[in-house]
Amino acid sequence: MGNTVFTFTDIFYVKDDLIEKIIKAMPQEEIAIALKRESTEIRKRFYKNLPSVEDSKDLKDEIKYSDAERPERIKAQEKILALIAQHPDYKKIRFQSRFYSFEDFTDYIMRKSAPEKPYGFASENTPSSSFFSSPKGAQALEEIMQKNKAEEHESFHIPNTNIYLVNYSECPECGQTYSFKKLMHHYMNPKPDPAFKKGKEVQVRQDARMFCIKCKKYFLPSLLLIDDIPKNEVQFLGMINTLNAIEDHYEALGKAALTREETNLLKSDGVSTRVYRDLDEEARNDFAAAVFNPKTAGPPSKILKGIRSDIFLKELESRPALICNLLQYSTKPEIALNLILGINVEMKDVLYGTWR
Ligand SMILES: [Zn+2]
Repeated sequence: MGNTVFTFTDIFYVKDDLIEKIIKAMPQEEIAIALKRESTEIRKRFYKNLPSVEDSKDLKDEIKYSDAERPERIKAQEKILALIAQHPDYKKIRFQSRFYSFEDFTDYIMRKSAPEKPYGFASENTPSSSFFSSPKGAQALEEIMQKNKAEEHESFHIPNTNIYLVNYSECPECGQTYSFKKLMHHYMNPKPDPAFKKGKEVQVRQDARMFCIKCKKYFLPSLLLIDDIPKNEVQFLGMINTLNAIEDHYEALGKAALTREETNLLKSDGVSTRVYRDLDEEARNDFAAAVFNPKTAGPPSKILKGIRSDIFLKELESRPALICNLLQYSTKPEIALNLILGINVEMKDVLYGTWR
């Protein structure tokens, strides 16, 4: 397998006795549903382990005539994955986990959940921007969107949904508004704070505060979820804050993810050079290239070409802010789409063009 994440297609490598166990533990109909959209190679793993030729013909027919929709297929696949997860060989492996549909994802992301504890470095009294509690929320939003437009920054559209993500960055103290570009500049070049004794790189990773140049105070910007009107709000994080917080989330679960898992770091001497060339080409003018510019801290020898996307949004379900921020930094719509579908690992997606 070569990685620590198991997706449904990895069934190809599962030993025969375990496939046999799955066949015995589940109704044939459910196995057929799970295999409906899978390749012949994967299906053959099951045909081969059925007791007779007639049995495999039965399963073939059942697959052929099944009209199960995606939610049912995912449920059936999850049941198979759960059986594999029980096997001692797979104790340390993370298993694919997905939203059932775009509706399922939309419902989840638009639901107003209990507010999350603020991410990143902030004192208890650091105030947060909030469209919903600001007395001039609508006016400030208008200002922010105009500033973004003037800087040719488009709101991030979550593919296959009606949802747009907009930085709601109004200083709660003085009402000053900040564009997306201004936020990005600040997050990559934060006002040095002596609290970060180890220097700028650590601050870039951990400091989620925005410094208001007008009133000289810190605040936490928010990220507004808008369909026809603003509906929901989470904390806004810089790109590096987002990675850091996701990595911390996994670390708390005893797992290494993103840059903390060595095999996710794609270097120029890696396996698939074609991927890197394409990325470099596309990243030349895009946002990722700008934020990972070589002027930020860190030894130049550590320059990497990308980060393997080894996380499942479903595993971050208790952290809507991390999901929204990760999506808003997707460099291509396909990357966001695959994340929502939970197929990013099998598609071998790479987050961001370069990383140092
Ligand atoms: Zn201010």
